[in-house]
Amino acid sequence: MNIAEWLAATARRRPYAPALLTGDKVVSDYAGFAATAASIAGYLTELHRIGPGDRVGVFLANSTRYLECLYGIWWCGAIAVPINRKLAPGEVAAIVTDAQASVVFTDEGSSPAVSGVTFVPVMGDDRLTNSGQGPAAPVEREGDDVAWLFYTSGTTGRPKGVMLTHANLMAMSWCHLADVDPIGPDEAVLYAAPISHGAGLYGLVHVRMGSRHVFPVSGRFDPGEVLSLARTVGRASLFAAPTMVRRLVHVARTQGEDGEGLKTVIYGGGPMYLADIQEAISVLGQRFVQIYGQGESPMTITALSRQDHADTGHPRYGHRLAGVGTAQSAVRVRVCGPDGRPLPPGRIGEIEVKGATVMAGYWRDPATTAEVLRDGWLRTGDLGQLDEDGYLTLSGRSKELIISGGSNIYPREVEDALTAHPAVAEAAVIGVPDREWGELVVAFVVPAEGTDLDEETLDRHCRELIARFKRPRHYHVVPDLPKNAYGKVLKTELRAAITAG
Ligand code: AMP
Repeated sequence: MNIAEWLAATARRRPYAPALLTGDKVVSDYAGFAATAASIAGYLTELHRIGPGDRVGVFLANSTRYLECLYGIWWCGAIAVPINRKLAPGEVAAIVTDAQASVVFTDEGSSPAVSGVTFVPVMGDDRLTNSGQGPAAPVEREGDDVAWLFYTSGTTGRPKGVMLTHANLMAMSWCHLADVDPIGPDEAVLYAAPISHGAGLYGLVHVRMGSRHVFPVSGRFDPGEVLSLARTVGRASLFAAPTMVRRLVHVARTQGEDGEGLKTVIYGGGPMYLADIQEAISVLGQRFVQIYGQGESPMTITALSRQDHADTGHPRYGHRLAGVGTAQSAVRVRVCGPDGRPLPPGRIGEIEVKGATVMAGYWRDPATTAEVLRDGWLRTGDLGQLDEDGYLTLSGRSKELIISGGSNIYPREVEDALTAHPAVAEAAVIGVPDREWGELVVAFVVPAEGTDLDEETLDRHCRELIARFKRPRHYHVVPDLPKNAYGKVLKTELRAAITAG
């Protein structure tokens, strides 16, 4: 079944219910939302010959039009390729090329040049919303047809497209209702984080339930705006990375706000420290649910429920609050040793997950798919342990992934950018723990002979090649890098050097 059917059904059931809002202003009801999606589908089909299974990129800042485009793509049976709006032109081009997308929706003036690809600015082209030729109902799709190509860049720096099917997205949405947060039609979802990631994935269930989709006027995450908007629209929920939760709590405390109007804050995507969630609860009250997931099993591995957050009398309350909760209802979770066999409770190993939300595989990459998916079990690359009650605690990542402010940063990508500078001979990048951002990117660079390096030059250079959020926050210029007998850089020694100050 095509997930766009949910929009069509809600538009029939509640045509005049407010659907899309900018700030507290309603810009479309459900009938209008569905009509625009159908029109965008018509535009794609008629003008660009897009059909079922074709890929269409979405490189847009958060806005009501973003959702209309997403559903327009699904309405004609195509596959959406949401692209993080913060990525640099070269990174966008790599994704678009890998996905073999021929059309990409963009904001005005933000299109990189990629041969054979048409970038369509979504504002100001009436044909998009008034094509009048859209199919009356979403094109038929099977559950195992791909709906969303979710791009993560692997350790090699090459983008990897996670194939999420219509059935994956539906199972994720049902888990949201069963394990994370039940939703009624009078509610609102507030988009504080990029739609290309978790916030967008969690919008789908709100379409099914017919709630309001609220976009902050600023178009970005402004904690003060989120608090006042929640108060105005009422019964609002939002998905936020732990860094965002910390900022929200800080502003609420400073302004003397108690989170009125906020029904639920769902957090995840990176580590939340125990002291931070305790502080969050003391300032904003019991409105929190944590989820642990990854692109390959979107938003859906475990959840730490609202009840778990509130069960302060439980003997293992502190332990539970420091973890990520129990398996969501569509999946099984296990922890395996290096030999691939499940470990008993209390032992640390690699977390594996199997069930209805697990991806179909990586786009055009059967070799990596086979490495990660075995007998339906997804190897997450995360390390952790289960307790006797089935509560999972994360210990760290087996991969080198750095998560800063909820965004993933792969050291290799940053190293590649640094070593592209002529004055850099070698570079190694690590993540170091940071209370504010979760982790900070730190670079060790060895200057090329006879050259001088300064932080400002390196920072300017990185900003040209990679997204701002990926660039190192600290540089250490060193004469050489510690290496093992095979010439591999010993990052453990670099980490130890930082810890030792
Ligand atoms: P992504 O595929 O971009 O969603 O990143 C997924 C990774 O983020 C996971 O494999 C974990 O390492 C990390 N992650 C996700 N949720 C949590 C959480 N609740 N606590 C700690 N780390 C998390």
